[in-house]
Amino acid sequence: MTREACGELRGKDVGRKVSLAGWVHRLRDLGGLTFIDLRDESGVVQLVCRDLPDARKLSREDVIRVAGVVAHREAPNPDLPTGEVEVVVEHLEVLSQAQPLPFPVDEDPPRASEETRLRYRYIDLRRPRMQRNLRLRHRVTMAIRTYLDRLGFVEVETPLLTRSTPEGARDFLVPSRLEPGKFYALPQSPQLFKQILMVSGVERYFQIARCFRDEDLRADRQPEFTQLDLEMAFLEDPEELFTLIEGLLSHVFRETIGVELEPPFPRLPYEEAMSRYGSDKPDLRFGLELTDVTELFRDSEFRVLRDAVAGGGRVFALRVPGGAAMSRREIGELEEVAKTHGAKGLLWLARGEELRGPLSKFLADPEPLWQATGAETGDLILFVADVWEAAATALGQVRLELGRRLSLIPEGEWRPAWVVGFPLLEWDEEEGRWTAVHHPFTSPRAEDLEKLLDPGFPEERLGELKANAYDLVLNGVELGGGSIRIHRRQVQQRMLELLGIGPEEAERRFGFFLRALEYGAPPHGGIALGLDRLVMMLAGEGSLREVIAFPKTTTGACPLTGAPAEVDESQLRELHLKIKIEP
Ligand code: ASP
Repeated sequence: MTREACGELRGKDVGRKVSLAGWVHRLRDLGGLTFIDLRDESGVVQLVCRDLPDARKLSREDVIRVAGVVAHREAPNPDLPTGEVEVVVEHLEVLSQAQPLPFPVDEDPPRASEETRLRYRYIDLRRPRMQRNLRLRHRVTMAIRTYLDRLGFVEVETPLLTRSTPEGARDFLVPSRLEPGKFYALPQSPQLFKQILMVSGVERYFQIARCFRDEDLRADRQPEFTQLDLEMAFLEDPEELFTLIEGLLSHVFRETIGVELEPPFPRLPYEEAMSRYGSDKPDLRFGLELTDVTELFRDSEFRVLRDAVAGGGRVFALRVPGGAAMSRREIGELEEVAKTHGAKGLLWLARGEELRGPLSKFLADPEPLWQATGAETGDLILFVADVWEAAATALGQVRLELGRRLSLIPEGEWRPAWVVGFPLLEWDEEEGRWTAVHHPFTSPRAEDLEKLLDPGFPEERLGELKANAYDLVLNGVELGGGSIRIHRRQVQQRMLELLGIGPEEAERRFGFFLRALEYGAPPHGGIALGLDRLVMMLAGEGSLREVIAFPKTTTGACPLTGAPAEVDESQLRELHLKIKIEP
C-alpha cells in the first residue's frame, strides 16, 4: 500500500484503509487505549491503538509506519485540519527510535537556548514554524527564478574558489595544495564575474549566490549569506532596473504572502533621506521627521549651538508630539540612544505651560522654532548639533527609538523606497585616503564623469562627486544595492588610482578584469538583494538564523558540526601550512 499524507485525511476518507508513516508527535497512554498524534511533512493526524502493546512502548519522535482504517472522531478537534477523523490502527511497525529529546518539537516559541537548537538543528527544523520558514524560502527563490526566467534572465553559477573581490570586508581564504603559499579567496560577491559575463554577451544574468565576508559578526549578520545577484547589459538608466526590481518584488510578495506592493516605489535622494529621517535606510512607515534648524541658532545665545554652527556643523530638531509630558528619565534614555550613535549630547526643549529644558532660557523668541518644527503646546523638541551626517544619524536613531516607544510603527505595512544619489567617494580618516562608498566598479553620474577624469580637479573636492548607485530599502532595512558600472578601462583605472591603487597594484589585483574591459564591454549595471533578509521579513522573523537551515552563531560557529575545527597535521602538511598561534 502506498503511503498517504497524514495531514490530508478528511471526513470523506472515513472507512478507507490507509498506510501512514511519520514521527510520534504526541502520545497519550490510557491503558488498553493509546492515542498517538502522527506527524509527517503534511501535518498531524490522530491514531488510536487498541490493545497494541507496541504502541505503549513508543516515545516522542519515534518513527513508525501504521496501517489502519479511517474513522469519525468521537470528539472532533476543530483546531486541526484532520480534526474530524482518526485512524484506527491495525498494524504498527517501529522504523526508528528516538532518544529523550533535548527540547520538545511542539513548543513555540522554544524555551531551549539557541546554542541547543542549533546543536540539534535536525530536531529544531521539525518544528512547524521552521518547516514553514524553509518552505517560504523555497517559494521565494522559485518565484524569483520564474519571474526572471520569463524576462530572459539566465542563471549562471560563478566560482566559489576565486580571487579576492573588494566589497570592503575581509576575505575567507582557502590554501592551495598544488601551488604552495597561494590562496583562493571565497567570493564576497560575484561582482567581477557578473561584469565579465556582460562582456561575454550574457545580457541578462542572475544568480542566487552564496557570498562570504569575514567580518566581526553583529546579531544580524552571517559570515556566509545569500544574495539575489543580478546584472544587465546596456543598462544606462537606473530607472529601467528600478521598474524591473519593483515588478520582481511585487511578484514575490504576491506569490508568497499575498501582499500587493504599490510600484513605483518612491525615489529618495540620499541627502533628503538623511536630513528628513536621519538614515540612508529610512523607515517610512511613520512620520516624525527631522528638521534642520541650523539657521535659527547661528546667532544663538546658547554657546554650544552657536559654536557648533560657527564650526560648520548643523543643528537637527525632532518634534515629539505630546512629549512635554516625558520625564527627565525618559529623555535621559533617549540621550543615551543619541550618544550610543555618536552624538555628544541631546538637547531638549519642552513646550508646556512654560518652557522647560536646557535651551529654555536662551530663546528670546521661540516663535520661529515653533514654525519650523510645527511644535505645539504639549510637545517636546529634541536637538543634536554636530557635523551634518553625524547630527542627522544620531537624531535618526532617536526617531526610530521613539517610533517604537510611541507605537508609531504600524504592523503589516510595507514601505519600500529607492535611495539614490549617494556620494561616489568618502574620505577614510583612519587610512588617510579616499574609499568607494559602494565599490570601486561603480560609475559616477554622467555629469561627474569629466571631473573624475580631470587630473586638475582638486582632490579635496572628490567628496562632491555623486555615484550612479542606488539602495533598495524596506521598512528601515537595507534590502540591497547596486549601481551602473564603469565599463571603460581608462575610467576604471582612474577610479582605482583615486583609491590609492596604482597601475602596478591594479594590474596585479584586477589585471584580468581591466583587460576584459578592453575587448568590447557594453555599458552595464545591476544590483544584489539580501535573500536571507528578504525571507526573514516575509516570514515576520526577527533573526536571519530563523530562515537559514544551518546558520552560524554570532561567533561564526556551527554548533551542529563543530565548525570551525582543527584539522589533522597531515592535512596541514599537504597544504604547506604551519600553525603558529601568538600568545
Ligand atoms: N556586489 C554588490 C554587493 O554585494 C552589489 C552590486 O553592486 O550589484 O553589495
